[in-house]
This record gives sequence, structure tokens and C-alpha cells, in this order.
Amino acid sequence: MKPRKLDVDHLRDWPVRPRPKFMVAGPCSVESEAQVLQTALHLAAYDVAVLRGGIWKPRTHPGSFEGIGVPGLAWLKKAGIAAGLPVTTEAANPYHVEQCLKAGIDILWIGARTTTNPFAVQEIADALRGVNIPVMVKNPMNADLELWIGAIERIHNAGITKIMAVHRGFSIYRPSSYRNPPIWRIPIELRRRLPELPLICDPSHICGSRARIAAIAQEAMDFLFDGLMIEVHCAPAMARSDAAQQLTPSQYGKLLRRLHYPLAGDGTRRSSAVRALRKEIDAIDDELIALLARRMECATRIGSWKRNHNVPLLQLERWEHVLHDRVQRSVKRHLSASFARELFEHIHEEALAVQEQIPAATERNPDPPAAPIDNATDELESPASTTTLNCRN
Ligand code: PEP
Ligand code: MN
Repeated sequence: MKPRKLDVDHLRDWPVRPRPKFMVAGPCSVESEAQVLQTALHLAAYDVAVLRGGIWKPRTHPGSFEGIGVPGLAWLKKAGIAAGLPVTTEAANPYHVEQCLKAGIDILWIGARTTTNPFAVQEIADALRGVNIPVMVKNPMNADLELWIGAIERIHNAGITKIMAVHRGFSIYRPSSYRNPPIWRIPIELRRRLPELPLICDPSHICGSRARIAAIAQEAMDFLFDGLMIEVHCAPAMARSDAAQQLTPSQYGKLLRRLHYPLAGDGTRRSSAVRALRKEIDAIDDELIALLARRMECATRIGSWKRNHNVPLLQLERWEHVLHDRVQRSVKRHLSASFARELFEHIHEEALAVQEQIPAATERNPDPPAAPIDNATDELESPASTTTLNCRN
């Protein structure tokens, strides 16, 4: 799909001073007037552009702390004024929007669970019509770029011109050492499709614990994100939500001091070594594509055989063997197991899809051969282009 233009304001037109990037920091939840004030005043000593604090918290289980509610808005705003910072909080419905506007909240964000639901996003967009407040849109819980873009479009269609996307990781079915693993290709594709849309990263909700926040923050900087959203609490151990992932203000300061910011633009063009390596990569990709095409041709011929002999397309035992074997081989060559697994899952899925296109034998031939499978060997159909193939699969 071609990049399409979204008429949004440039980050320099936001009522926010990037220091040096668009850094949003503050507690997961506003808990008390003193907690948010103390956090804000400590934070003000470091590079921070916007103070965050959740007022209504979308919790997985009822009975958990679900946010302090409306009184917290005034505490947040007061803390922002004391620290000289604009403030932001999550709005998940028109009532939240109304209360935030009344309290003078400077920027709203739409949480991941809300972005997942177009009805909810539309209700928020309708409540925002006629008000030009900046809105940050977190990615949906599931790795669905269109849903994320759809939410951004709904807010944009309501007349909002200051919109920002926030990559906060995705909920996946596989066990992971992240709370919500980042899937960088999705925000990178978002940037390709909507290059003018500011984009920041929320390493706190990606990691779920303090340990890797700095590494994810650095990755985001290396991928030229415009900033970060990081949860910071004056006493993380006492936090009423997301205690394990909140940093102290001084840990936040230390993280920022260690970040390095690559310069925008393709500086790599200056290097002849990089140019040579890129040529090599182009040639390797060419080979990869040719190999994949050959592999699919083999799968097609096997698919015809399966169809002719009324054999199920999915051969689970064979697939388990292939997956295990390929992951092991990849690891021996220092490729990561998760990368190899995902790659071969994609390849296998595509091979099955290609085989699925082949009409079933009963549709092509109302009287299929009744020969037992063991006797029916080696009658692979030979499409013109594949006669010389050496298929081992
Ligand atoms: C948050 O930022 O506190 C939050 C709940 O975020 P998300 O919607 O990304 O889970
Ligand atoms: Mn949180």
C-alpha cells in the first residue's frame, strides 16, 4: 500500500518543548495529591516534556485499584503547573473526555484496550469534535496495524490535528519474557504509511518490569521514534498499579543520560563499506526469493499428490519434525530460535495456503483412484517449470 497523507501538525507545533525528544514521564496512576506532586517535582530535574498520570485505570480483574477518578485530575494539573509541564491522562469514554477538558488536561491518550474497539474510539472522537486538544493513540492490544490506523483516522476525522501514535507492545498468545512484546515492524510500517505522524514508544508497558526498559528505549531511539512514554513513581514499591515496571525519578534520569540519539537522515550513504554490504544484501535477498519460489513449487507438487490421493494437506508429524529440525539448525548458525520458528511458521502457512488452492481430487475427478497410498508413489505432477526440480521435502 502506498503511503497516504494525513494532515496532522508537526511535532514542533505541539504546545510542548521536546527535551531533547518528546519524553512523557510520570506515574502509572495518580494515587494522591502528594504522590503526583512529589513525582513531578523530582522529574522536573530531568529531561521531561509531559507529565503523565492515569486517572481511570483499565484493570484486568475487578477489585484491583481502578484509578482515583475525577479528584485526581486537579492533582495532576496542579503537579504539572508546579513542575512547569503540560499533563496527559487516558480517556476511555466521552465522560472521561468531558472531565479532562473541564480540568484543563493538556493532552489526552487513548489506551490500548480502547483502540481495540472502534465503537469506543468513535464515541471519544464524537466527544472531541470542535475541540483541538492533542491526542496520543496507543496501538491496539492485538497486532493489527489497520485497527491502529483506523483509530487515528477516527480522531483525525473529528478535526483533531495534533495526533501521535504510541507503540506499547502487543498482547500475544506465546509465553514471552516481555509483558507485551514489541513488534517493531508494525510501528515501522505505520511510519512508512503515515510518515508525518509523530510516533513514540512506551517501554514500560512493553517490558512489565524495570530490567529491560533502557534497552527498549534505546531500540526506539535507534529506530528514530520521536520520544518515549515511561512510568515513573516517587516510590515504585508502594505503587497501586504496575509497581514492577515503574522507575524512580533518578533511575529515569540515569536512563536518559545513557541514551544516545542517532542523527536523522541516511548518513550510511557516506560509507563505501556500507554501500558494498548493501549490495551483498541485495544479492542475498535475490537468492532467498529464488529459493523460496523453488520451495513453493515443491510444495505445490506435493499438494497435487495429496489431493490426488485424498491425503490431508496438513501432515502434523512431518511439520513437527521440520519445525524442530529447522529451529535447531538455525540456532547452530547463531540465528535466534524465535526468529527461526516464526520464519518457518510463515513459510509453512504459505505452503499450506498454496496447496489449499489446488482443487480437491473429487472436484476434478468424480472417480478418484482407489489405490492404497503405499502403492501410489512417485506420480508427482510435473508443471512445465518444475520438471528439473530436486524436491526433498
Ligand atoms: C497506561 O499507560 O497506564 C496504560 C494503561 O497503558 P496501555 O493502554 O498501553 O496498557
Ligand atoms: Mn501502567
